[in-house]
Amino acid sequence: MDHDATSPVAAGTAPVRDDEAADRLGLLGRRDFSLLIVDDAVSVRQEVRRLAGRLGVFGTCREAENGVEAYKRVLEAAPDLILCDLVMPGVDGLKFLALIRAREELRDIPVILVTGKTDVETKIRGLELGASDYVTKPFDAGELLARIKVQLKIKALQDELRRSNELLQELSSTDALTKLFNRRYFMAALGTEFERTDRYGSPLGMVMLDIDHFKRLNDTFGHQVGDQALRGLGALIHDAVRTTDIAARYGGEEFCMLLPETDLEGAAEFAHRLRLGVEDKTLLVDGHEVSMTVSIGVSACPNPAVESGDDLIRLADDALYRAKRAGRNRVMVSER
Ligand SMILES: [Mg+2]
Repeated sequence: MDHDATSPVAAGTAPVRDDEAADRLGLLGRRDFSLLIVDDAVSVRQEVRRLAGRLGVFGTCREAENGVEAYKRVLEAAPDLILCDLVMPGVDGLKFLALIRAREELRDIPVILVTGKTDVETKIRGLELGASDYVTKPFDAGELLARIKVQLKIKALQDELRRSNELLQELSSTDALTKLFNRRYFMAALGTEFERTDRYGSPLGMVMLDIDHFKRLNDTFGHQVGDQALRGLGALIHDAVRTTDIAARYGGEEFCMLLPETDLEGAAEFAHRLRLGVEDKTLLVDGHEVSMTVSIGVSACPNPAVESGDDLIRLADDALYRAKRAGRNRVMVSER
């Protein structure tokens, strides 16, 4: 028998000391969780909303009266937790569960099924469909809140883990000073891009840049000014490249740019613009006006002399060396 018509809370429920438990689970102080209550009975929705409110951790609480409406709410904004009735007209709890579990981005939202049904088979089906937990009506308020807290704790840990992984990913591919990609990432990207060029014959340009007399700059103004100069150049390069280009700090004062779908002529044009851009820019660092110039080497493929990404780098590096030898502040293009 479904208890939708009457109060969903069992009589004689003991008072809950929410703050203590919330604190133990590390949820205290958080007000940013979002809750979705799905039930066809308005009395149940109100009661669950009232109880959940006692936890003080929900910043938003939305309601839906059937599976279709609930699915719409979830697509509008994914909640941190769903409390879902099992028996509802139309799309019921199990169908709703199957709908959201079918979508990769919604798979991790915890769903507690709240129902009057006590038969084991339905419970098993719900759990198999991905329900995180089960509460049977009439429920004990303390039990419901305890189960909500456990699911929120799991959700919070999952979110934290995801953020850590994203940060780790960013840190492992980014140069901390310039925020451009680091050498490790650049080499991996070069492998991928070279393979594409090799297979489809699409052009790939390589630009290698080195700051002229960087050591002199460091010796004159100190390393902090040197770092600022590197940061400023990083920002300039970042603004100059397209989103499909890969710009990296390759070494100390050396930068590399990989330009997909760009031939030798196009890469050389880009390099000339970049050289002028650096020359024209004056960095104001700690009251010092710092201007710098760069030498640039350019290479590209397809090219009979290029059989690997390393060959592409070697040719650009050779051209860069010639630019330095010829007096710096200039662009040299690979001869082959
Ligand atoms: Mg119902």
